[in-house]
Amino acid sequence: MSTVLLKPESVYRVGKIVCVGQNYVKHIDELSSKRYDTPVLFLKPSTSLLTDANPIRLPDFSNEVHHEVELALLVGKIARHINADNWREFIIGAGIALDLTLRDLQSIAKERGLPWAVAKGFDGSCPVSEFIAIDRIKNLQNLTIELRINGTLKQHGSTSEMIYPIGELLAYITNIFTLEPGDIVLTGTPAGVGKIKTGDHLEASITEIGSMAFEVI
Ligand code: MG
Repeated sequence: MSTVLLKPESVYRVGKIVCVGQNYVKHIDELSSKRYDTPVLFLKPSTSLLTDANPIRLPDFSNEVHHEVELALLVGKIARHINADNWREFIIGAGIALDLTLRDLQSIAKERGLPWAVAKGFDGSCPVSEFIAIDRIKNLQNLTIELRINGTLKQHGSTSEMIYPIGELLAYITNIFTLEPGDIVLTGTPAGVGKIKTGDHLEASITEIGSMAFEVI
């Protein structure tokens, strides 16, 4: 079921997942990517969601699955052409997500100028935590975000480092895509991305939100 939980007990059926790429400078640098003058957007289907500590299954059509830990926002109200400063009206929850990426297939797609649908949207490519109400978080734009593999810190950053902060991002997104209740927005990953392999234990955390863990099989 493509649903997520907003604690304590609201269940949201997820529609689309709108993602932003390249929203942290150090991550752009580590991939030797170009910086563009607008946010880089892509979509994941609702079938990419993975919840309830189900294991991450590595797809057999890739040899390079990368972790990208991200702040996830749960939409609570229809949002279209919103302003950067009133975005809080439309977002109801915050959670943790992994934007799992088939880096080998994504690199080929980039070279050939092809879409990222396979590299970013395969089944299980979006493990998520439970969401918590955003009114319980002091400042969404100042949270520490981390990912550990087998206990070793791999990704570390702060949501204060976003190139496009949440308001600007949502204003840009909702000028293109109407966001509906249950849609999720992923806000980009800090530096430190890398490959995951069978047997790995992933633990992702964001201060004030909590943590989540997934096994890779
Ligand atoms: Mg990402």
